Amino acid sequence: NNLAALGVLGIALIVMQSDITLRSGLYADMREALAKGHFCLHYQPQVDAQGHIFGAEALLRWQHPEQGLIPPGVFITAAEETGLILPIGNWVLKEACAQLVKWSDHPHLSHLSIAVNVSTSQLRQPDFVQEVQEIVTRSGANPGQIKLELTESMLANEVDDTIQKMRALQAFGMSWSLDDFGTGYSSLNYLKHLPFEQLKIDQSFVRDLLNNESDQAIVDTLVNLGKHLKMTLIAEGVETIEQLEYLHSKGCMKYQGYFFSKPLTVQAFEQLPSPLLSP
Ligand code: C2E
Ligand code: CA
Ligand code: CA
Ligand code: CA
Repeated sequence: NNLAALGVLGIALIVMQSDITLRSGLYADMREALAKGHFCLHYQPQVDAQGHIFGAEALLRWQHPEQGLIPPGVFITAAEETGLILPIGNWVLKEACAQLVKWSDHPHLSHLSIAVNVSTSQLRQPDFVQEVQEIVTRSGANPGQIKLELTESMLANEVDDTIQKMRALQAFGMSWSLDDFGTGYSSLNYLKHLPFEQLKIDQSFVRDLLNNESDQAIVDTLVNLGKHLKMTLIAEGVETIEQLEYLHSKGCMKYQGYFFSKPLTVQAFEQLPSPLLSP
C-alpha cells in the first residue's frame, strides 16, 4: 500500500515537472511544432446503432520530441490565449481535408464525414468564412463531408454574427454540430435559430448515466429537445454497453466513445473492422 502510494506520488511529481517545463516555453514550442510538422490528428470513430462507422472526429495531438504525445487539454488554452490557435486551426482543417481526399477512393472510408473542432477566436475572425472556404476548395475535399463543431459556450455572445457565418458555410455545403451540448446554458430560443444539424450530448452526462437519476433526466430531455428541433443526436463518452443500451432505448442512435474506440492514428483507424459492434 505504501509502495503504491509512493508510486502515485512519483508519477504526480513527474507530471507536475513536465507540466512546468512545458509551460515555460509553450508559445515558442508550439510555433516550432507547427513549423516542423509536430502536430498530428487522431481520429475517433462515430458509429450508428448498428455499429457502422459514419464519421470521425479529428482530434489534435502534439508529437513532442522529448515529452511524447501531448493531448490538446495541455496546450489548447495557451494556443487560444496566444492567438496561435488561428494558424493551428487552419492546419487542422487543411489536414482533415487532405485526409478526406486520401480516403475518397478508399473502399470503406470514402463516405465518412470528418468533424473538426472550431475555437472561439477562429469563429470571431471577420474572414473566417472565406478562409474556411479557401482551405476546403484548395484541398479538393467535398464540403458535404466536413462537420464543424462549436461548443455551447461559444453561442453566448454575438449570436447574429454566429448565425450569419453558420449559414454561409452551410450554403457552401458544410454542416454544424453543437459540441458539449447541455453544459453551456445556451438559450433554447437561440438554439432554434442556429442551423445545427447535430447535437453532441456531453460526456459528463453519460459517465454516470446508469446510477444517476439526474443525468438520466438530463439525457432524456436533451434527446427529446434534439428530436423536436429535428437535429441528430450523438452521445459522447460512451464507454460501456449499458450506457449504449440506455441511450439507444431513449432514442439516441449515434455514438462516440471508448466503448467503440479511442481516437486513433490514421493507420490504426484504417484497420478498424466495420461494423464495430458484432451483430
Ligand atoms: P471534445 O471536442 O469534447 O473531444 C472529445 C474528447 O473526449 C477527446 O479528448 C476524446 O479523446 C475524449 N473521449 C472520447 N471518447 C471518450 C470516452 O469514452 N471516455 C472519455 N473519458 N473520454 C473520451 P481530447 O482528444 O483530449 O480532446 C480534448 C478537447 O480538446 C476536445 O474536446 C476539444 O475541445 C479540444 N480539441 C481537440 N482537438 C482540437 C482542435 O483541433 N481544435 C480545437 N480548437 N480544439 C480541439
Ligand atoms: Ca468536439
Ligand atoms: Ca465534446
Ligand atoms: Ca469539450
